[in-house]
Amino acid sequence: MTAEIIAVGSELLTPQRVDTNSLFLTDQLNGLGVEVVTKSVIGDDLNRLADAVRRAVSRSEIVILCGGLGPTEDDLTRDAVAAALDRKLIYHPEITEVLEQRFAQLKRKMVEVNKRQAFLIEGAEMLPNERGTAPGQWIAESDAHVMLLPGPPHEMKAMFTRHCLPRLARIVPRQVIRTLVLRVAGMPESDLDQLIAPVYKKYDNPATTILAAAGDIQIHLRARCSTEGEAAALLVEVGWPIELLLGERIYSRNGQPLEEVVGEMLRERHSTLSVAESCTGGLLGERITSVAGSSAYFLGGFITYASRMKVEWLGVPEDIIARCGAVSKETAEAMAMGARRRTGSTYALAITGVAGPDAGGEKAPVGTVYVGLADATGCSVLHRQFIGDRTRIRQFATQMALDMLRRRIAL
Ligand code: ATP
Ligand code: MG
Repeated sequence: MTAEIIAVGSELLTPQRVDTNSLFLTDQLNGLGVEVVTKSVIGDDLNRLADAVRRAVSRSEIVILCGGLGPTEDDLTRDAVAAALDRKLIYHPEITEVLEQRFAQLKRKMVEVNKRQAFLIEGAEMLPNERGTAPGQWIAESDAHVMLLPGPPHEMKAMFTRHCLPRLARIVPRQVIRTLVLRVAGMPESDLDQLIAPVYKKYDNPATTILAAAGDIQIHLRARCSTEGEAAALLVEVGWPIELLLGERIYSRNGQPLEEVVGEMLRERHSTLSVAESCTGGLLGERITSVAGSSAYFLGGFITYASRMKVEWLGVPEDIIARCGAVSKETAEAMAMGARRRTGSTYALAITGVAGPDAGGEKAPVGTVYVGLADATGCSVLHRQFIGDRTRIRQFATQMALDMLRRRIAL
């Protein structure tokens, strides 16, 4: 079964507001095994809205509208759906009574416009709104089910969960959707795709999506099957050859981010970590400490942005900086060794690089990053040249550092 979502409201077409309701609805529908095939955002315009509803009903079995159910002139969803389905709007005095009671409880007098909310589309079932005034509506067309839900997210979520999910569960054929998420570090998206496309291109089910961020790629395999067991088997059939191809570049198989994976590894081994950061200005420490319980293994860090601080806080020899530059293999090494010496941690990571957009006084070009990793056996340094803006290069650098540590610990 397929679904279509229409988010209604001119404010959703401005730069200030974004439609988030459809993300919640998509997640819920996927949980039932229903695929969302189209989403649209329509302003408060009767004709455009009615057109969108006509089209949606003609091609999708489930059509969900959210927003535009309020009492004001610009709330047009009821009228538009009635026009699109060629049904009348019928006034229900009993809904007005409930609204009046609601207002009375709040010690307010209901103004006349609220009566607009008491109109139901002919043949519609009323969906109670426990969190607001605008009731929702459920309409069964011959080959589509149409739902009208309120726009405010907390009202929409409560109404959908309580009143739409149980109805949908009755009409949707039983299907399960299971997703395998593989996360990969330190590989360009194009290289990864070239490697694994021959495997996943053979299958429509599971559907494969590749989401790439700086130094971090997620591969989502979504299987739709009639039973849990079939879905699990299908994910193994397609996921396993992909896992073999990517090998140790995969850092998680359950969606966990790299900082959590590394944190667990440190915790299991009773190891500790400290960091010394230059161009990332604390971003690495931020990622590590975003994980609850990181105090079990993270000792602390140094943000040594100026060369003087690298010398004073980490004991980087002045002549190394003078000779090799602040962005160099030698400086990264001395920073990592210094952080480890000062904190007594098992491991120390150091990042120095040029985040741009200007190279500053550095000899190295924008995007150059050195990561040093010190432990009891000594220190190794990796060098990478990244492409991107300041934000991306800094993100790349932290990812590179965490992945370097992951691989070292896994050895
Ligand atoms: P009411 O006007 O009575 O509040 P309504 O059903 O008419 O209810 P809207 O006016 O469309 O709802 O939206 C009310 C609020 O909900 C707005 O602040 C809007 O930004 C937010 N909202 C509406 N639609 C969405 C959406 N798709 N995603 C996220 N927020 C939304
Ligand atoms: Mg409104």
